[in-house]
Amino acid sequence: MIIVMKKDVKMEQTKKLKEKVENLGLKVMITIGEGQSILALVGDTQKVETEKFSREEGVEKVLRVQEPYKLASRFVKKDDTVIDVEGTKIGGDNLVYIAGPCSVETEDQIVKTAKAVKEAGAHFLRGGAFKPRTSPYSFQGLGIEGLKLLRKAKEATGLPIVTELLDSNDYEVINEYTDIIQIGARNMQNFALLKKVGKSNKPILLKRGMSSTIQEFLMSAEYIMSEGNEKVILCERGIRTFETYLRNTIDLNVITVIKQVSHLPIIIDPSHSTGRWNMVEPLSRAAVAMGVHGLMIEVHNDPDNALCDGAQSLKPQNFKRLVDNTKKIYEVTKEI
Ligand code: PEP
Ligand code: MN
Repeated sequence: MIIVMKKDVKMEQTKKLKEKVENLGLKVMITIGEGQSILALVGDTQKVETEKFSREEGVEKVLRVQEPYKLASRFVKKDDTVIDVEGTKIGGDNLVYIAGPCSVETEDQIVKTAKAVKEAGAHFLRGGAFKPRTSPYSFQGLGIEGLKLLRKAKEATGLPIVTELLDSNDYEVINEYTDIIQIGARNMQNFALLKKVGKSNKPILLKRGMSSTIQEFLMSAEYIMSEGNEKVILCERGIRTFETYLRNTIDLNVITVIKQVSHLPIIIDPSHSTGRWNMVEPLSRAAVAMGVHGLMIEVHNDPDNALCDGAQSLKPQNFKRLVDNTKKIYEVTKEI
């Protein structure tokens, strides 16, 4: 349920109404758009009559949100959410590049790769320190040592960090070292973890589960937002279908759907979507033409010897070409 206040209403009055609603055991988030406050009521609103609030002073109208996600819905917040991370804006009309290796391996590898992706135009450095590997015998990441190396790479380049939080127990340390917390596809419906990062003030990059519907994806964003953290970046990374030729099947329509039904930024990970380095640029071009807000690309200074996902990792020169070519498409698309 949302309560739309009249245009001239003072914030004091809006806050009074917020208190009244909270006394009913509901959570309230206030958003301000076009000079008008909107109260989003979260919780079991089924039993609450809309008339209860429509008669209150200062209220223009009370509406029921049909979708199960409320805070993530475009219906509740008309304007695009734009998330500022150390001066780089994610969402709205912006296109950002997040690049780096699948996992942090050595200081030489991460610093070299960070310098190369920065040079090519990346805004963020990605790199896993805690890796969700399908096999327990595969490289699991360097853990805290990896986070320290990411910090060194940040010091060398100024690039803010994106790294994955795999387990609630590592929350404090990840929160300390990273600028954006990544929740991986396998944890998209780890609701305890989502609630935990909902309490962080860091932006959350939420990857779509490989067997999740768009609605489930948005409900996971809602979990994070309902805890108070509205800085959620959605990331499509391919889903499982009957097709096995490539690693996953990208659902490009997700870009249009999310932009219609939600105000949250949507980015694409063409590396895990395809599993092959030479498929990454064409897919990135298509995503940019569709108006995606960002690309997350695996780049390694030496893909042949990568400990993880070398087959889908771009060499720095190929990443540079991808950035140059997608920027051209972005410029043309912006005009349309
Ligand atoms: C990753 O981005 O490092 C990763 C493991 O991706 P996903 O969770 O999409 O498989
Ligand atoms: Mn990977």
